[in-house]
Amino acid sequence: MIIIMEKTATIENIKAVENILSEHGFRAILHEGDVHTVIDALGDKTTLSPDRLEAMEGVSHVKLIRQPYRLASRDRKPEDTVIEFDNGVKIGGANRPVYIVGPCSVDEDYDGLLQVATAAKEMGCQFLRGGAFKPRTSPYDFDGLGEKALQYLASAREATDLLVVTELMDSSDMDLVCDYADVIQIGARNMQNFRLLKAIGRCNKPVILKRGPANTIKEFLLAAEHIMYSGNEKVILCERGIRSFDDSFTRNLLDISAVPVIKKYSHLPIIIDPSHGTGQRYLIEPMSKAGLVAGADGIMVEVHYNPAKALSDGKQSLSIPQFREVFSKLNSLVDTLHLERKSVISNLD
Ligand code: PEP
Ligand code: MN
Repeated sequence: MIIIMEKTATIENIKAVENILSEHGFRAILHEGDVHTVIDALGDKTTLSPDRLEAMEGVSHVKLIRQPYRLASRDRKPEDTVIEFDNGVKIGGANRPVYIVGPCSVDEDYDGLLQVATAAKEMGCQFLRGGAFKPRTSPYDFDGLGEKALQYLASAREATDLLVVTELMDSSDMDLVCDYADVIQIGARNMQNFRLLKAIGRCNKPVILKRGPANTIKEFLLAAEHIMYSGNEKVILCERGIRSFDDSFTRNLLDISAVPVIKKYSHLPIIIDPSHGTGQRYLIEPMSKAGLVAGADGIMVEVHYNPAKALSDGKQSLSIPQFREVFSKLNSLVDTLHLERKSVISNLD
């Protein structure tokens, strides 16, 4: 539940509420707004009734959160979460969609990575992505260069000022990955690795959480809730396709409807990844367009300087010239439609 304090509530009133919450085993998170102080009370409400709290001095009212994901729900926070970086880049809210671009995995060819990063920066993209620790279905496939890849990404950041996104697969690598990355990616396969979600909650970098290929939207939001509950509220959700019965033409089924659904039920930003979502180069443009029209706050695309030489996911990667073309079409789509993020959420029930 959320406890909204009166404008006139004193520090003692707030303390008294915090005390009673703690006596009943609740965790209280305090938000001091310009007008009201709001307290998120996380715990079992059968042990402490909202009526009892509402009767306390300085309490304006208590709002119950209907969804099991509380911190992530729109009930708790009606306004969109905007994640802002030191260089002024913002994700979410009414901001223009961001672009996260780069190879599936970083390979030995640093110049190739730099070519992608330089082109992406020139076009106006904000993030360079690249895997250093790769989850691979087969143990015989290339699973990343590890720290060397992180160093390459950091050098490309130095050269271009792009922000770096890379995946963390195991909490034992957390300090290392956090040292290099600006945004930590939790991959689809780890969406329900609760120990990892808990660990990442202790890192103060923004997190891109990818939807598991067989997970419901509710499970997706609950995974975000784990990260938030562990102390990191800077979560960016990423729809990257789910398993369907039909894989004859596509690797996954990119669930575009997840975008407005998540916008309705959560305040967190949501981006889409049409590369993993479809597994097909030719589908990146149409699915990115669909995602943008549906309200996505950003697009993650695999781009390689030479997709034929990529050590993973070459088939779904765009070359630099191909991405340039797609990017310019997406950019003009955003301009033409004057895509305002809020306007895509319908008020109909
Ligand atoms: C990736 O982004 O490189 C990746 C492995 O994605 P996913 O976890 O969505 O499969
Ligand atoms: Mn990939």
